[in-house]
Amino acid sequence: MARICVFCGSRPGDRPEFAEAAELLGIYLAESGHTLVYGGGSTGIMGILADAILQNSGKVIGVIPQHLARPELMHSGVADMRITIDMHERKAMMHSLADAYIALPGGYGTLEELFEAVTWAQLEIHTREVAVLNVCGLFNGLVTMLDEMTEQGFLSPDCRRHLKVFSATAQLLEWVAALATTR
Ligand code: AMP
Repeated sequence: MARICVFCGSRPGDRPEFAEAAELLGIYLAESGHTLVYGGGSTGIMGILADAILQNSGKVIGVIPQHLARPELMHSGVADMRITIDMHERKAMMHSLADAYIALPGGYGTLEELFEAVTWAQLEIHTREVAVLNVCGLFNGLVTMLDEMTEQGFLSPDCRRHLKVFSATAQLLEWVAALATTR
């Protein structure tokens, strides 16, 4: 079974489809026995994802820096909550725990974490796979930008391909299933 590190919003977004995608992923991870590694929050897409896994008896590891480890932000239902000194230690710990990375809808924090994961793949610091779930076209502009960077010579086609982009949750779940069988 794999440990899947998911980066996602501390806000829920404005469309019900964002929460629905997080719930589907959470149920799938729980039922297939994978462990979620995530930012430890209780709010937004983070909270929805963690709740879906916990409600289905799945395994969750939260990794949260001490300045965010406050009752209104940290998920109180996650038994395995690791509190780090700062963001640097948190990210190092999340990477050390992860077998693969997924980004769900989110904002700055999600993008920062996603691009660190894919940049470290480019630098051959790790060989883990990285995927994005592009719910309701939220990341369309990002995909266009990455294609343009490839077109204009700033991203090699191999590095561009390293970031998998799925529009449908079912495709993402198939990718997770395939990951597990190759481990
Ligand atoms: P954002 O996309 O800007 O909402 O940031 C979400 C990402 O940043 C998550 O994957 C978390 O790792 C981290 N993060 C941001 N806000 C929080 C929070 N309140 N509690 C825990 N993690 C957070």
